[in-house]
Order: sequence, then C-alpha cells, then structure tokens
Amino acid sequence: MYEKIEEQFASDNYSQICPEVLEKIIESNNDYAPAYGNDYYTKYAADKLRELFEIDCEVFFVFNGTAANSLSLASLCNSYHSIICSDVAHIETDECGAPEFFSNGAKLLVGNSNNGKLTPEEISHFATKRDDIHYPKPKVISITQSTELGTVYTIEELKAIKEVANKYNLYIQMDGARFANAVASLDCKPADITWKVGVDVLCFSGTKNGMAMGEVVIFFNKDLAEDFDYRCKQAGQLASKMRFISAQWIGLLENDLWRKNAEHANAMAKYFEKRIKEIDNISIKFPVESNSVFVEMTEDMVTKLRTKKWLFYSFIGLGGGRFVFSWNTTKERIDKIIEDILGK
Ligand SMILES: *Cc1c(COP(=O)(O)O)cnc(C)c1O
Repeated sequence: MYEKIEEQFASDNYSQICPEVLEKIIESNNDYAPAYGNDYYTKYAADKLRELFEIDCEVFFVFNGTAANSLSLASLCNSYHSIICSDVAHIETDECGAPEFFSNGAKLLVGNSNNGKLTPEEISHFATKRDDIHYPKPKVISITQSTELGTVYTIEELKAIKEVANKYNLYIQMDGARFANAVASLDCKPADITWKVGVDVLCFSGTKNGMAMGEVVIFFNKDLAEDFDYRCKQAGQLASKMRFISAQWIGLLENDLWRKNAEHANAMAKYFEKRIKEIDNISIKFPVESNSVFVEMTEDMVTKLRTKKWLFYSFIGLGGGRFVFSWNTTKERIDKIIEDILGK
C-alpha cells in the first residue's frame, strides 16, 4: 500500500512541482510542436532567460544538474586539463566521476573550502603548484553558488576569484543548483553574480526551484558553446519533447516566480535557524545564507527524528543533519520538527 509522505526537509528536490510550472506543462500539451527544441516554448524560454540575464547568451536545456555540470566543464577543457573546485563541490562528491568521464579524463583539483567556498588563495595554490608538462594544466575554476553548505559568495568574493582567473588564464564555471537562492540572498540581479564578475558558463537549476526536472546551461562566453548541442545529444541529454522542459522555465520566469520561490525557501531556512537556536545541545554549523541549514546534534536526537519518520541527510560520525527548505515549505511543519526534537 502506498503511504503518503508528509512534508520533508531532506532536500529541495523532495518537493512538488509548483502550480504555475505545472500549468505551463498542461498549456504546452494543448497542441503539436516540433521536436528537439525547435518549438515555440523553447525559443521563448531562451529569450526570457536572455532578458533576465540582460545579455545575449547561448542557452541549452538539459534534464539534470550532473549533466549540466559535466558537459559544460567538458566544453571548457581538454582531457589533459584540470578543474579547480572545493572539497565539498557536488562535481567532486556527488557526480560519480561524470565531469572526468565527459571530459575524457580532465582532473579535478580539490581545494579546502572555507564554509563551502573556494578562496582565491586556494585557487592560486593549485594554479601555481606545477608548471611542468607532467601535471594536468589548470584550465577551469568551478564554484557553486549558493554552496553545498548553504553559504553564498558575495559579489566582492566573486570579483576576487575573477582576478585570480585572469591572472592564471582560467575559465569560471558556476554550478547554480541553487543559483536562485543566491540571487535572492544577495538581493541582486542575476547578471551581478555571473557574467559581470566573469562567469563563463552557468548551470542554472529549475528542479530545486519548483520544476519537475530541468536545468539550463547558459554560456555567457558564447565561443565556448561551439557544438554544445552535439555534446548534449551524444550524452543523451537532448530531450525530444523539449517543450515540456522549456515550458516549465516559462512558468518560473514569468512574474519572477523563480525569485519568489527562492525568497520563500531562504526565509524558511532562517525561520528554522531561529527555532533551532532556541534549543540547548544543538547548534548551527555554517552561516545560514540560502535555503540549507546544517545542524549539529546528538545521535539521540538524530535517532529520535528518524523514529518520528523525518527524512534528512546526516553525516555519519559527525552526528548532524542537513535540512533544506523549498518553495512550498510551511512554518507549521518546521514547528512540528522542532516539537519532535524537543519531545520524548
Ligand atoms: C542537486 C545538485 C546538483 C544537480 O544534481 P542532479 O541530481 O544531477 O540534478 C548539482 N550541484 C549541486 C550543488 C546540487 O545540490
């Protein structure tokens, strides 16, 4: 028997499709459309994205984030190159070697992160570590905005990274699985934290913002997009009924829904943080700057929450949990988890 699962904070991809997005899927289901992206919805969504980013850029729709990251990185480097990223980067910890696979062997140079962020010093260290032919040549800096630990690079920090990139002739790729949350957190324009600070390519996630599935790869540096459509096709990422991905984007882009969804998720993270801070023997591990909150708690608390059917990722040995908030998170449910933490 199917048992309905109550609202959870394990990840923002546990949540539903938001109604405005679902409506667009239904609307785009009203008639026939050319396949493989040669349809009205895909062209319109791409134009809306160009408008949002205030620049003429190359836009590609793919199914998921692993592909968006791997394929964009592969287009920025050759097999003998390397990619500088942080030790908590999704490309390092959660993509099953896909970036290395799709780039035919480019190596990830994994630096220590400062609360999830890669620092200019760490990037410089890897960029200058070796200059001989026996080591893969650094070519790309990959940063995640907002980071895997829920922190956000400030515009100043991004500018400092761009300086290092210029100095060592490195491209910048941005994993924007939670890009919307970063924009909402900084209260800036998407352009302010992308091409204006030298980001060459952005992987912008719709999935974690309220879509069923879908990411968009945006090349601000248009030269790097050469043949990217072939790369997507070869990797099995060219959707034949692409309109059902792109139409969803229209749902998010109209009326700035992507930003509203992110603002809500961020606000819920802040509310959860506030409630957690009222409790003894439990603490917040990283600054709460987007929609994820990492909590340090006792094994007993973890077990208690699991017994009460709460689903969340925990870090074995560290005795903690990660809680991620979505476009439709309710305060009532946050109050419920707090009650369960406090209860017997
Ligand atoms: C979720 C996520 C992705 C994308 O993951 P997929 O499951 O491949 O869609 C990429 N980067 C980060 C930081 C993520 O959290």
